[in-house]
Amino acid sequence: MMQKHGYRRIGWAAGAAFVLAAFAATLGSVAAQNENKALSQQAEKTQTKVVLLGTGTPRPFPDRSGPATAIVVGQRAYLVDFGPGVVRRASAAAAQGTPQLESTNLKVAFLTHLHSDHTTGYPDLILTPWVMGRTELDVFGPEGLEEMTKHVLEAWQRDIEIRTQGLEQRHALVVRAHDVKPGVVYKDERVTVTAFRVAHGQWPEAFGYRFDTPGKSIVISGDTSPSEEIVAHCQPCDVLIHEAKYHTSTSELAEIANRAKPGILVVYHTSGKGPNGPIPDEQLLREIQRTYHGKVVIGHDLEVY
Ligand SMILES: [Zn+2]
Ligand SMILES: [Zn+2]
Repeated sequence: MMQKHGYRRIGWAAGAAFVLAAFAATLGSVAAQNENKALSQQAEKTQTKVVLLGTGTPRPFPDRSGPATAIVVGQRAYLVDFGPGVVRRASAAAAQGTPQLESTNLKVAFLTHLHSDHTTGYPDLILTPWVMGRTELDVFGPEGLEEMTKHVLEAWQRDIEIRTQGLEQRHALVVRAHDVKPGVVYKDERVTVTAFRVAHGQWPEAFGYRFDTPGKSIVISGDTSPSEEIVAHCQPCDVLIHEAKYHTSTSELAEIANRAKPGILVVYHTSGKGPNGPIPDEQLLREIQRTYHGKVVIGHDLEVY
């Protein structure tokens, strides 16, 4: 029994200590930024991009993978949500010119909320890149994430044992889950990530996120009904990625966008099924553009902004 749970206990305990040390080191290094670093940051300025990995909903439309978005800054990649299909969509994006999204580079992820359409890809995110050689994963999200992580690891316990203790001799699986509160939840030399609360049904905690990189500010709504927090966190922002239809109607989204004034509004988590299949992009756009005249697109999987 001891043996059986060994990897997990080591992972969690060492993980917590390591994370504290890592954060301290990160803050220190930020303070001590030298000129070279500033120059290399300058060079990376134009290299922030948003890659839509999954723009779907719980409904399994074949061309819309479960909600997942990648923010790529220089050589690093950061995920928001891990709906079903996340790792394969990331690999597709890597093959299409964003090698930062190779599975072994998926090391930091943020979760908006625990709904299944946003989390069914979690075992995939934990296990597939690990099997391919990734050494560790940090995940940040609302309360309940740590518990979910523990259960996922338990569910795949036999696979993990066979791979680490058997002939495959794989290195330990290190997953550090962090239940976080609104505010700055992550910071490194490339990006500052701020979580803010949004209202989403009965979830006690659902987050939107703002990413500040040297080149761009990006706000992502997660699932939310019309939210003042979105407006407040996009003052201004370059890219606002916002859901439409399920919880925020197109006319409500137009009103939010009129007040938030993003450089571009990217609509995702577009739901809804008309009599002839998904609601056509043209219809969504028409509805939004009745009252919003800024730049707006309906996002699709693997598009880059
Ligand atoms: Zn959703
Ligand atoms: Zn949801």
